[in-house]
Amino acid sequence: MRSQTTFDIQYAHRFYGFQGEARYLHGHTGTLTIEVEDTVNPGVNMVFPCNEIQKTAWAVLKNFDHALVLREDDPLLPAILGVYEKEGIKDGTPTNTMKGAAFENELCKAYPDCRLVVTKETMTVEGMIKMVYSLLKDKLNIAKITFTSGVNVASCEFTTGATKDRCPLCGIALVDGVCPKCGYKHPAR
Ligand SMILES: [Zn+2]
Ligand SMILES: [Zn+2]
Repeated sequence: MRSQTTFDIQYAHRFYGFQGEARYLHGHTGTLTIEVEDTVNPGVNMVFPCNEIQKTAWAVLKNFDHALVLREDDPLLPAILGVYEKEGIKDGTPTNTMKGAAFENELCKAYPDCRLVVTKETMTVEGMIKMVYSLLKDKLNIAKITFTSGVNVASCEFTTGATKDRCPLCGIALVDGVCPKCGYKHPAR
């Protein structure tokens, strides 16, 4: 069965080199839905607590929220960083507090201090799904991701990995057989 969670991400981007309006810098509220698939954990009668999916995903994905997402070869990138630098906000400000942990993989790199994500590919809704999967696939048994932004919607199904051992009391994934939330220990097998 599947547990799913949905959240909104506000961001600015553009399709560098694209023949159309999206070539100009503009913004969206995007809606991301992540579906996690596993057996139903009999202790709590759920696949995975939805608020925990949200917490795990948001810890990483808040880097995309109130952020600028630009492709690595976009000439706007050095221009904007130059302005941020002059203004003294490139390396953060005391009020820039809703930051995620920095990440970097083959598709994207986050600069939380200046709320910027630099991408390998154009950040279309399809591109966002690829990035979200690459960032979260080791943390969650993701079966499907849907991303909606304006009139654009894309979704993709994924093959999930092996079932995760989850706490029968909290429902969250055990770490080395121990629940990180309540301390429940998996009985020796
Ligand atoms: Zn757009
Ligand atoms: Zn627990």
